[in-house]
Amino acid sequence: GDYNQKIDYVFKVVLIGDSAVGKTQLLARFARNEFSVDSKATIGVEFQTKTLGIDNKTVKAQIWDTAGQERCAIMALQLNLWGGLGHWYRAVTSAYYRGALGAMLVYDMTKRLSFDHMSRWLEELRGHADKNIVIMLVGNKCDLGSLRAVPTEDAQEFAQRENLFFMETSALEATNVETAFFTILTEIYRII
Ligand code: GDP
Ligand code: MG
Repeated sequence: GDYNQKIDYVFKVVLIGDSAVGKTQLLARFARNEFSVDSKATIGVEFQTKTLGIDNKTVKAQIWDTAGQERCAIMALQLNLWGGLGHWYRAVTSAYYRGALGAMLVYDMTKRLSFDHMSRWLEELRGHADKNIVIMLVGNKCDLGSLRAVPTEDAQEFAQRENLFFMETSALEATNVETAFFTILTEIYRII
């Protein structure tokens, strides 16, 4: 079982992006192959692990999910509120990014605004994380094709300009979810 398994590496990966884009469901799909329609807003910082093999090594992926502080992040960035709230926010934020080797920057492809916020999330990420962090831009909810508000080309262009991996996913239909996480983890393995 899991207890006897020798772990060669632990890779921390953080999920970031606006509220309701599907971060928690992407993690539920990847870690437990589950999905919930009435997913509650995440409270507190949480992480889940999944152990997998890469190149004959045993890698424990430790995936961190944000705690609803995403609303505060946007607010703090918009209002430049670096007072009391900013102080608290920065402490939580640095703990969240500390030691992260990978990041998934998630938007909802049916919500243009969640994509437009990607540059701010990227700025925050680059301000806190290691400079070699592996970043993937993820357009989630690709099952809702008829409601698409972000053309694939727009996201591809952004990803190319910012030097990010890019993938469109559906946590609901389990499209590309494993591939997205596996791509990040494999790339981390390749560069460490
Ligand atoms: P978070 O705030 O980013 O963690 O978002 P959640 O994972 O809580 O998801 C927010 C809502 O979007 C929930 O109602 C989910 O069921 C729904 N959702 C998440 N992923 C998908 C997806 O791939 N397709 C569809 N159609 N809905 C999704
Ligand atoms: Mg959540």
